[in-house]
Amino acid sequence: MTIFQKIIDREIPADIVYETDDVLAFRDIQPVAPVHVLVIPKRPLVRLAAASAEDETLLGKLMTACRIVAEQQGIAEAGYRVVTNNGDWGGQSVDHLHLHVIGGRQLTWPPG
Ligand code: AMP
Repeated sequence: MTIFQKIIDREIPADIVYETDDVLAFRDIQPVAPVHVLVIPKRPLVRLAAASAEDETLLGKLMTACRIVAEQQGIAEAGYRVVTNNGDWGGQSVDHLHLHVIGGRQLTWPPG
């Protein structure tokens, strides 16, 4: 079981900022910017590469949740980044799909 599943199951605490029947959003424990929120599906999907056509609606809900979180956190107008790290070389450290919503400062591109 991943640490994110434990957050979904309320076995460990998290700073939850947004929740629907399908999606949970909580602050990253090691933020890289003033706003750094993780948006995850409640259903365990390992990573984007593991998604199938049946997950299309869920993927849309995750993106919508990112937009809502950004508005709620006050970073929508200034701009922000949504990123998902996929697999080993993508830098994924938790095997439960998550989208990072990052903002609140000027971001640079490309990332390291
Ligand atoms: P990734 O490297 O894309 O898999 O991102 C995993 C993220 O989860 C990292 O940014 C971690 O800081 C974050 N993280 C790990 N454990 C927790 C936790 N218990 N609560 C909140 N964020 C966490």
